[in-house]
Amino acid sequence: MLASPKAVVLAVACLACAASQAFGQNDDPSRIGNRDVGKGVNFYSIERETALGRQLASEVERQAKLCDEPQITEFVNRMGQNLVRNSDAKPPFVFKVVEDASPNAFAFPGGYVFVNTGLIEIAEDEAELAAVLSHEIAHVAARHMTRQATKAQLADLAALPVSIFLGGWAGYAAAHGAQVAVPMTLLKFSRHDEVEADYLGVQYMYAAGYDPAAAIGIFEKLAILDRKAPSLWGKISSTHPADGDRIAATEREIQNILPGRQQYVVSTSEYKDVRERLIELQLVRNTDAESSRPRLSKRTEPLSPIANPADSSAGQP
Ligand SMILES: [Zn+2]
Repeated sequence: MLASPKAVVLAVACLACAASQAFGQNDDPSRIGNRDVGKGVNFYSIERETALGRQLASEVERQAKLCDEPQITEFVNRMGQNLVRNSDAKPPFVFKVVEDASPNAFAFPGGYVFVNTGLIEIAEDEAELAAVLSHEIAHVAARHMTRQATKAQLADLAALPVSIFLGGWAGYAAAHGAQVAVPMTLLKFSRHDEVEADYLGVQYMYAAGYDPAAAIGIFEKLAILDRKAPSLWGKISSTHPADGDRIAATEREIQNILPGRQQYVVSTSEYKDVRERLIELQLVRNTDAESSRPRLSKRTEPLSPIANPADSSAGQP
């Protein structure tokens, strides 16, 4: 017996209904901006969270070398703001570029995002950089850092006097990357948080018009780096594990929840110019560093009252 057209429509509607019930609110990109992805036990109010992020960001700004090339910094900030507008996070956000060769990015609560120059170097297409920025925006939107801190306090409170927390986060500070003091315990998101940041981030870049497949492209590049230079990767993988699982999960996500589109942004001529400018500046810096190296190494030699200037330069070209 053939079903009437009305019955078919109803059956399709029920299937759609079942699908939306099977998935959570985080699986529907059309609801981005109208869903509470950061809900959960959290000791931090939004205000306190933002103050914590501001404090950590100012620590980074004090200790790291920030890129001051307007063409690069303005572009990254504009690109980041566009992704925030297509995310579940609430503005304002601040995006800054750090002079650091490791291909990484990190974000603090309240929307303070730092992007290393090394990441822009390996992200050949704008959509690849968008994937990493979106992942960071997702960590902020889902309030991972303060939820993680809340969990840590809940776990520790039973055994430790509350006074131990009164000194603030300074007690957690540890050297990271370019000698930037940031609390490593907070940077170490759980596996669940990383998976969620990937999941939400891919939706944000898609909502902003980028090709979500670029997320797979950059994850693959990071995985190759992991195999080629594990020592460089060591500090990156501590915050952003790269493996086949995240690539497979992203492939499934694109297939299952992101409706296909006729056109996507993969890259732009402006991004190409920005990246070329950055690589050019790195080359100039590396050349400068190379030419000043003998002078620097001479300074580190122990001073001796009987040292002969002719001897100290004897080993140099
Ligand atoms: Zn992450």
